[in-house]
Amino acid sequence: MCSPVGHTLGGFIAGAPPAFNWRWLLFILLAANAPDLDFLAGALVGEFNRYHHMASHSIMASAIFMLLVFIVLRLNNSQSFKAVWLGGLAYNAHLLLDCITIDSSAPRGMQLFWPFTEQYFIAPFTFFTNIQHGGRNDTVWEALGPIFSMHNLGAVFLELAVLLPIFLFMQWRKRT
Ligand SMILES: [Zn+2]
Repeated sequence: MCSPVGHTLGGFIAGAPPAFNWRWLLFILLAANAPDLDFLAGALVGEFNRYHHMASHSIMASAIFMLLVFIVLRLNNSQSFKAVWLGGLAYNAHLLLDCITIDSSAPRGMQLFWPFTEQYFIAPFTFFTNIQHGGRNDTVWEALGPIFSMHNLGAVFLELAVLLPIFLFMQWRKRT
């Protein structure tokens, strides 16, 4: 997995919002990091990584996310549904980034095609460094040590070095 920093940048690159007001910023931030809310489900049962890279990291989950955004917009009588597509792009950018990130803990990859198969998938080549977040049965407390490590700091720097210039270039292109 990438860090929230990499995922947020990926979300803003793929689902570039039409404006940088607080609503769009919050929405893309949420969409880009939504798959990793599976950590919260794990924390609730006392095993931080229990559900990580499972259903929330599937194309089906991204479709459900888009449907939920659509329903919320409809209920608010919105005239624009741009958020459905941009949110979907940000969500899928998360899946793509995780697919091309080293995964050193078994099972490697994620359940991309859940619920049709529970098999884990990862790209044949990986580029980004994995963010360490403890073992499968670790509690939230036990996972904190690996999360705040120098290894993870290096991983975040690599994400910034690759994704920040792309993001800044896109902003520059928009203005010229
Ligand atoms: Zn993830």
